[in-house]
Parts: sequence; C-alpha cells; structure tokens
Amino acid sequence: MATLTVTEQITTSRDLEYVPCLQCGSTDIQFFDYGYTEGNSGGGKCKSCGAECTRGLHWDAKKDQQVAIWNSQNDPKKLIEAQEQIIQAAKDRIKDILAQQAVIAALVAA
Ligand SMILES: [Zn+2]
Repeated sequence: MATLTVTEQITTSRDLEYVPCLQCGSTDIQFFDYGYTEGNSGGGKCKSCGAECTRGLHWDAKKDQQVAIWNSQNDPKKLIEAQEQIIQAAKDRIKDILAQQAVIAALVAA
C-alpha cells in the first residue's frame, strides 16, 4: 500500500466579545490595524459616532488584540477598575508622605 501526504489548512471560527461604544452605545464597530511591519497600531472605530481607540500593536496582531484595545477604552467596568488603581496608588502615596512627615516631626522634636 502506498500513502499520499496531504497538506491541509484548517480554518476555525470563534466569537470575540466586545462592549458597545461608550460614547453612543452602538455595536457597529470596525476592528482594524494598519498592517505596518514597524510602528503598527490598531484597535476599534465606532461606525456610528466615529469614536476611535488605537494603541501600538505587533505587526502580526490578531483580532483578539484589536478587540482588547477597544474593550479597554469602552468597558465601564475596566475603566472604573483602572481609576480605582489610580486612587489606590494615590492613597498609598499619601500614606507614605504622612509616614515621612511623622518621621521628620519626631526628628525635629528630639
Ligand atoms: Zn459611537
């Protein structure tokens, strides 16, 4: 018996979830990247109001990354989480400043 080696390319499909446009609520979003080999960028653009968010991308970026960029700038939950991290960092910094102030006050009093 003889064999024949066949090379096949398999194509699969899957769903990527994305949030509506934070500016107008539309879900008619175009995901894209510029396809540059250097300095590439991409993300999503709302076809309804034109809101766009892009970030630097690797030259062979997948749709997942474009959708992730869109979601990072349009998902209220992610935006609130990012702001809470900023607030926490500021609280930590204030705590450090107060601790430093207490140390100096003790040194001056001594
Ligand atoms: Zn929009």
